[in-house]
Amino acid sequence: MNSALSPSPLSFVHPTADSPWGTYLMQVDRVVPYLGHLAKWAETLRRPKRTLIVDIPIELDNGNVAHFEGYRVQHNLSRGPGKGGVRYHPDVTLEEVMALAAWMSIKNAAVNLPYGGAKGGIRVDPKLLSNKELERMTRRYTSEIGIIIGPQQDIPAPDVNTNPQIMAWMMDTYSMNTGTTATGVVTGKPIHLGGSLGRVKATGRGVFVTGREAARRLNLDLNGARVAVQGFGNVGSAAAELFAQAGALIVAAQDHTGSIVNDRGFDMADLTAHVRETGGVGGFRGAEPLQAEAFWDTRCDILVPAALEGQITAARARRLQARLVLEGANGPTLPGADDILAERGILVVPDVICNAGGVTVSYFEWVQDFSSFFWTEDEINVRLDKIMIGALKKIWDTADRHRITLRTATFAVACERILTAREERGLYP
Ligand code: NAD
Repeated sequence: MNSALSPSPLSFVHPTADSPWGTYLMQVDRVVPYLGHLAKWAETLRRPKRTLIVDIPIELDNGNVAHFEGYRVQHNLSRGPGKGGVRYHPDVTLEEVMALAAWMSIKNAAVNLPYGGAKGGIRVDPKLLSNKELERMTRRYTSEIGIIIGPQQDIPAPDVNTNPQIMAWMMDTYSMNTGTTATGVVTGKPIHLGGSLGRVKATGRGVFVTGREAARRLNLDLNGARVAVQGFGNVGSAAAELFAQAGALIVAAQDHTGSIVNDRGFDMADLTAHVRETGGVGGFRGAEPLQAEAFWDTRCDILVPAALEGQITAARARRLQARLVLEGANGPTLPGADDILAERGILVVPDVICNAGGVTVSYFEWVQDFSSFFWTEDEINVRLDKIMIGALKKIWDTADRHRITLRTATFAVACERILTAREERGLYP
């Protein structure tokens, strides 16, 4: 090939080995040898299809005007409309949102949902805003990204620091701007607005279901198993609750308010009440406080990172005591750490399958909104479990066949679906 025509690196990001987009690119490099003739199309995975950066000015309660930077990235739309959450966090960057959008492409294809991958975010600490300011920011952001979202185009959902109320404001703003009642434009909505039963706990449930399957293959009995959880928000708390119901002991937890440990396992009802009242696990009376770094030395069977990216570094991977890591968060393990965990025989169920329960029930919500016919929570959970178990089995078979990690196997299954769609559609024009 003429070198002048070989793919040029993207000009607007500068990934490093440990940054989210750099991590994702390395994961793509690892899967290419398993893509056969589809490897010809692999470069499409290394580039987001569309990136939108928006300015969000809002009037604060004190009369001043504040500006926030917002993003919506559609990584790949070969298999269907974009789908992925919206994150409010002071550290959000375009590069992070690009990686999160790309992981959504992989995840949606891994569980065979008819979606492409997308993600959004605002660089803001929402805890510093009043409720009214939060609403104004959400509405302006929705209006700004309104040119690329829609029930058939790109469907946002909750992620870190966003919730059903924020989805309700997004749905209302989009509906006002289009003169419709567009329930299908976002998922993770309140039940009265076309939300789905089971959505709030779906991601944690998927972590539990894939974890239960992995534990079975490791001959690890969940009854009495010791579990450590980083992040006690939507994902971490729901997963912890289900593990506790299965007889596991939740022995350590960490969030932005602190780290706690109790060798005999937490009383989950007390811990949940404490988090509801105080906003975090720090200061929980039924546990001992722990130094943040010591959390990674906790003696446990299962570790559930369910907070942010890049938490399991190479240094922490060398110290982990767990037999099984369940990635509730997106991108919690750096590539160097992944290799160390594999060498140490610690099994990792990767984010792109482990936390796919949320988007799976989001898909159910979207389908229910279109058909205006709603399912019971039991129906949701039965269908969710079936999809997660079936997807994990296919991934496990692929891993066994090629002797590769579950992460590379998930990428192999997903990329084959994405790139087959790419090839069958052909290039336009
Ligand atoms: P959340 O806002 O409900 O909870 C986030 C948790 O992370 C909180 O407990 C917070 O205290 C903790 N946290 C934040 N910064 C931290 C730090 N520096 N150290 C330790 N803990 C910290 O968010 P969530 O929806 O539970 O999302 C958590 C992770 O799961 C994210 O990676 C998200 O992308 C991923 N995820 C979420 C969903 C979903 O449906 N909500 C679906 C798939 C993946």
